Amino acid sequence: MIITRCRTNHFRDPVGFRLNGITFSWVTQDAEGKSQTSARIRVWKEMRSGDPVFDTGWAGLDPLGTAADMDPEPRTRYVWTVSVRSDACEEAESGENFFETGKLGEPWEGKWITCSSDEPRHPAFSRKFEIDGCRGISSARLYICGLGLYEAFINGRRVGDEHLTPYCNCYRKWIQYQTYDVTQMLAGGSNTIRAELGNGWAKGRFGISSDEEGYFFRKEWDLIAELLIRFSDGTEKVVGTDEDWTVERMKIWFSGIYDGERRDDTLPDLPAEKAVLAQHEFPLTERMSIPVKVRETLLPRELIFTPKGEWVYDLGQNMTGTFRMRVHVPAGTEVRIQTGEVLQDGCFYRGNLRSALSEYIYVSDGREHILEPRFTFFGFRYAKVSGVEKPGPDDFTGLVLCSEIEETGRICTGSEKINRLIENIFWGQKGNFLDVPTDCPQRDERLGWTADTQVFVPTACYFSDNAAFYRKYMFDLNMEQAMREGMVPFTVPAFADMDTSAVWGDAAAIIPWHLYVFYGDRTMLSETFRGMKDWVDFIRRADGGDLRQWGQIFHFGDWLALDSQSADKSECVGGTDVSFIAYVYYYNSARLTQKAAGVLGEEEDEKKYGGIAREILDYIHREYYTVTGRCAVTTQTAYVLTLFYSLCGDRKRALDSLVRLIELRGGTFVTGFVGTPLLLPALSKEGMDGLAYDLLFNEKYPGWLYEVNLGATTVWERWNSLDSEGRVTSTEMNSLNHYALGSVGEWIWRTAAGINPREDVPGFRKAEIRPVPDRRLGSVEAVYDSPSGRYEVSWKYTDSGKVAVRVHVPFGCEAELSLPWSREKTVKTLLPGEYSFEAEPEQNIITDKNNHNTGSFPASVSERNGGRQNVQTERRSKDGIQMHPRRDRRDSYDKDPERR
Ligand code: BGC
Repeated sequence: MIITRCRTNHFRDPVGFRLNGITFSWVTQDAEGKSQTSARIRVWKEMRSGDPVFDTGWAGLDPLGTAADMDPEPRTRYVWTVSVRSDACEEAESGENFFETGKLGEPWEGKWITCSSDEPRHPAFSRKFEIDGCRGISSARLYICGLGLYEAFINGRRVGDEHLTPYCNCYRKWIQYQTYDVTQMLAGGSNTIRAELGNGWAKGRFGISSDEEGYFFRKEWDLIAELLIRFSDGTEKVVGTDEDWTVERMKIWFSGIYDGERRDDTLPDLPAEKAVLAQHEFPLTERMSIPVKVRETLLPRELIFTPKGEWVYDLGQNMTGTFRMRVHVPAGTEVRIQTGEVLQDGCFYRGNLRSALSEYIYVSDGREHILEPRFTFFGFRYAKVSGVEKPGPDDFTGLVLCSEIEETGRICTGSEKINRLIENIFWGQKGNFLDVPTDCPQRDERLGWTADTQVFVPTACYFSDNAAFYRKYMFDLNMEQAMREGMVPFTVPAFADMDTSAVWGDAAAIIPWHLYVFYGDRTMLSETFRGMKDWVDFIRRADGGDLRQWGQIFHFGDWLALDSQSADKSECVGGTDVSFIAYVYYYNSARLTQKAAGVLGEEEDEKKYGGIAREILDYIHREYYTVTGRCAVTTQTAYVLTLFYSLCGDRKRALDSLVRLIELRGGTFVTGFVGTPLLLPALSKEGMDGLAYDLLFNEKYPGWLYEVNLGATTVWERWNSLDSEGRVTSTEMNSLNHYALGSVGEWIWRTAAGINPREDVPGFRKAEIRPVPDRRLGSVEAVYDSPSGRYEVSWKYTDSGKVAVRVHVPFGCEAELSLPWSREKTVKTLLPGEYSFEAEPEQNIITDKNNHNTGSFPASVSERNGGRQNVQTERRSKDGIQMHPRRDRRDSYDKDPERR
């Protein structure tokens, strides 16, 4: 038995993170026993010796989140372990974990400093200082924040390996500083600390303000830093920012998130200036952002010489990040590198980036350099290089930047195209998880649009552990709400005055609930509960008390659906009545707030929001359904909402209508941002898995595989971002890396792999395992490292037409297996362990009344088994389900088993 994935507040060994209460979590695996009988957490100050400062004793602790009632001191490291006992009398202790506090409420000795001139060349603030070589350094920490962006150096070496610090958040309310362990970077004698600054989100053009001024949070560069050196004799030395710091000007003279970076190495050095004290104080807070790092590097697949005579690198993958390029050109030569997502007529194209220049411009000093833009990022697959006569095929490398999320889910099917789709969805996630969950990474937007985030949360939570990532987003969202009496702006952070919209603002209630269901951490739910209530209360006020006005204001509706009735071809709001959608989401938010209140034991609120939910549901019934239960809004999305949210009694009629509308559209859908994420789940909820699969496998426009067939490597914003010839259909709003419609990933996990969390026992302590096989898919192998441990589900057809299923349930968990499609209609509770068995599909049973083949099992079951043999044939119990000794399986997915 071993203990793994030990986390403090969902961070792995955090240094200087905002903790605000401390919660520990862990996973037990490789045990003989089935469950934990008790556990014990001990915390020591500085190092594991002597009496712990906190000790739970042996108790029934929750591995998904045990809160420690302790009051940590500032700038202090705490070491902790957890020990677990199992019901098979095993006992194991984790390795040592730690968390280290930041400055907490302590005043800063460093002061905010800035430049004395508005010279555009980017500043590097620095300071020399001495360290008495005879006093041994026992530890050194750098606490630092620079606006817009900063990179720190000590003695010429870069501090840490994070990019784009101090990250992007609602700067008006809080600004994050980072803490670095720099003990190994200092030496006795003369030392230099330096911080280089760029514009970034805080200082550059960013956001969708129509007002030029509205783009900027700051127009000045500001820096605050405090280097704390502790010596072995117990003394300390602090080097803080003040007027003694010097400002040198770098050769970078422009940077911007949208517009790239410009550097001119022929510029003369400028005389050093003195830093001056800034006139402002900012609300500094320990960081919540998880680090953004280079997670992968991509070498060009091809260097293309295009028909226009241009050199273009093709990375073979639409990615987000920066790049490295080796150049050696004569002095004074301007090298320009521009990025784009797609070629047109074989030539470089970037018309869909709108006003984002997305380019790096470099003027050479004649020497060889490895160029790397640092204060910007790009969303691209292609890079056009001009100013270099003939670039070398290996001179360019794409650096994929992404928040340091830990991968938790891998799924591989028997269909190459679906595998590509799954890859595209995950690339979409990686490309839009750069500190903020964004809509897209390439054009002049790259914003935390709330609906895009909301619809993608469950998909993302299968692919990776995002608890800390989304916690920071929700912190920002709640901060934005606090400035707007509960209203949620279109994007978080907002970066401008903004209105709200149903579905978008409902992120305030939907995201916390998803996070609770996936991670089972009540602390996180209680942190966001206030925001849930404030959002519902805000709608209630906006509604004017008579349940009429919420539907009357502007809402985005079923964004980018294809059934708009407008004569204007560019209309983005789909055909589903916008007020209907608004009330359904109002109802849903009230219901989720009621449920959250129930979990948190807030009885009054449970009653209050339950009452509101009922009232809105009544209104929805009165306003949008006939007395016999027919929906007055007759679009695919309206029926999807009716079924998914169980809005009316006559579900059969709604289902028939949805199926008919799908058939009328030639067996496909016209749904947008509202209908699409729920379409397949709504069909599966009604037992129409086969039709859901049909839609997934549809290769024509509109469909996910239409994109795959056209060579997509991420998910597009529009169903027809490119036409069937691969031509960009419009330039106004057309990103090729937009994950919202990739939310179908959730259905693939829930239905094709069949791994489902349960609301009543969240965090996957209990799961519903309900894999639905499909001939076209052939097989599935899915591994999911849930917060409670590793689930595995695989299935494939055997030569005899049966389905071989294998399930692994982790220690401490329980799974409800259900195979309604099987002849035996298997329903069984699975305890921790590994099971494999064959199930016989009941043929021709899954058809609807119109004889529409909704079934997953066409008559012919003789197709050859092409998948890997993994069915075990030993011992078989009477229901055919075979038990194996409990042991967490390790296989090729287990790239980085974290054992401590
Ligand atoms: C964004 C979206 C967003 C929408 C609002 C677009 O420009 O890219 O994904 O949700 O605006 O409707």
